[in-house]
Amino acid sequence: MIKPVLFVLSAPSGAGKSTLIRRVRTTLPDLFYSISCTTRPPRKGEVEAVDYYFVDKTRFIEMIGNDGFLEWKEVHGAMYGTPVEPIRKALQDGRRCIMDIDVNGAMDVFRKIDEAIGIFIMPPDLRVLEQRLRLRCSDTEESIKIRLQNAKRELEFAALFHYKIVNADLLRATTELIEVIRRESEPTGNI
Ligand code: ADP
Ligand code: 5GP
Repeated sequence: MIKPVLFVLSAPSGAGKSTLIRRVRTTLPDLFYSISCTTRPPRKGEVEAVDYYFVDKTRFIEMIGNDGFLEWKEVHGAMYGTPVEPIRKALQDGRRCIMDIDVNGAMDVFRKIDEAIGIFIMPPDLRVLEQRLRLRCSDTEESIKIRLQNAKRELEFAALFHYKIVNADLLRATTELIEVIRRESEPTGNI
């Protein structure tokens, strides 16, 4: 038995959240991954309903009006939101869940769900972050600039998370993340 804990992962764009989550899910296949809605266009290789639900702005606003999101934010010029129902159901089914959202969205989740566990992924430094964004070849120059500008402000939120993991060595960071998830979702013993 595991505890149905909600893990909230945040980091500056390019720090390696998606890569880490992909690797963790192969080790912990029961972990429920919250697929967000976004109005940004898909990147090369991204798959509808696997990476995101890609929706237009009208549909996104309709979902806000229907209270369809646990939280939503405008990030780097597009809208992103966490559909509430899949998370609610997964937690009710006793599953541990993980979501990859920006720092402002994470603050909303912490306010709404006391028991949520925040994990902040740190890049080794801003120079490496820039290299990773460029090597990913998925964003325009304009988008990379916005992401780097926002990174400095996002790093100031790190102290508000329960755990910080530096993603320098990928294997080591993956192992640390798996350890945190396992430790926090271990059942507490009955007295
Ligand atoms: P995020 O989801 O946080 O925006 P990604 O997971 O897309 O970031 O990672 C950004 C880029 O950095 C990708 O090209 C990925 O392969 C690479 N990357 C991730 N972690 C590491 C690491 N520890 N060492 C080197 N490259 C990495
Ligand atoms: P990307 O465009 O690189 O996939 O994501 C950009 C940023 O949006 C990242 O910081 C990512 O964590 C965040 N994000 C993705 N989904 C959501 C969501 O549902 N809500 C919020 N608030 N941020 C999200």
